[in-house]
Amino acid sequence: MLRSLRELEVTKRRVLVRVDYNVPLQNGQVTDDTRLRESLPTLEYLLQHRAKIILISHLGRPNGKVVPELRLDPVAQQLENLLRRPVTKLDSCIGPEVSRAISQMKPGEIVLLENVRFYPQEEANDENFARELAQLADCYVNDAFGTAHRAHASTYGVARFLPSAAGLLLEREVTMLSKATKDPKRPFLTIVGGAKLKDKIGVLTDLIGKVDAFLIGGGVAFTLLKAQGARVGSSLVDEKMLDEARQCLEKAREHKTEIILPHDVHAVRESTAGGEQAVVPAAAIPDGWQGWDIGPKTIQIFQERVERAETIVWAGPLGKFEQPPFDTGTREVAQAIARSGAFAIIGGGDTAAALHQSDLSRAKNIHFSTGGGATLEFLGGRKLLPIEILRAD
Ligand code: AMP
Repeated sequence: MLRSLRELEVTKRRVLVRVDYNVPLQNGQVTDDTRLRESLPTLEYLLQHRAKIILISHLGRPNGKVVPELRLDPVAQQLENLLRRPVTKLDSCIGPEVSRAISQMKPGEIVLLENVRFYPQEEANDENFARELAQLADCYVNDAFGTAHRAHASTYGVARFLPSAAGLLLEREVTMLSKATKDPKRPFLTIVGGAKLKDKIGVLTDLIGKVDAFLIGGGVAFTLLKAQGARVGSSLVDEKMLDEARQCLEKAREHKTEIILPHDVHAVRESTAGGEQAVVPAAAIPDGWQGWDIGPKTIQIFQERVERAETIVWAGPLGKFEQPPFDTGTREVAQAIARSGAFAIIGGGDTAAALHQSDLSRAKNIHFSTGGGATLEFLGGRKLLPIEILRAD
């Protein structure tokens, strides 16, 4: 159990809240405010309790330097629009300007500190920096699930110096994901897609022996197919991962965990959607052709598996979903999940984004996880320090 925000004494107190406002920006505007919206339940709870809310987040990868385009001003602006109340944006995270502004805050007011990754001490989890952050507040709330696999000063270090708790978003994520890690209902299926096997091989390997079967699509399938000796034409292959792919297949064989690779693929001759297209066997793709989506037979096989499953975890789109019709596999498998009623977690950034706008986001059996790497590491059974530190003893 995590210590919950509801148990924390927050009324009229200064509360430092770590949020994940790592949102896409274009021309100084937030282009997708999902992450801001997801933090609203925690912020509204704190506003009801008239807390003095001090928000802290990272944005992008400034690598410990001030990068003007990565300042959080557009984020503050969009948050003001959502909350319909002022959000005071400060230009640093620590120092006299910040201390002065916070000392003048009234209950129910909101301050947003600057991009915390402008400080090299953040990613180094520097103890003095964490202590300085802790001095700004009376207590600490972590609601940044998307960053929960990074033990940094603002996600981990600071929790050692203040009474701390999980925010409502973090708490919900951990409750949902724990349903898949603790005694999941079987059959337990994991669907893996996306472009980079490097990002997914960790969770794949971690889950061998824990799940009953993997369904693999997307670009990642071709490295595994090639590792088995298949001809994959010019499809996406990560040559450096072939050895790891072989080891992963071997481990799955030892543990009798099924790995189901595509039977057929929807391929294109050139790397443009306007090029010649055909459905070809996944293990015999002609030279010069690239598999861009799972084929109809594979969709059918995946759907049949999904219909029988009780627990499903899915990370990574099954094709180049940004370019219809190569979103067909991803959409049809998602619809089968919604119909199946199985408890499903869809995570890993792009997959959730690919399906979030569709009706599926209303399917009651599907939890769209806000994390990418954090979701995968949690599901793979790894300990995430920023979450561990919030566990009630
Ligand atoms: P990831 O960030 O690893 O989850 O990868 C997501 C990306 O994988 C999306 O942009 C998809 O277009 C891409 N993708 C999925 N399937 C394929 C494929 N068969 N070939 C190339 N890219 C793919």
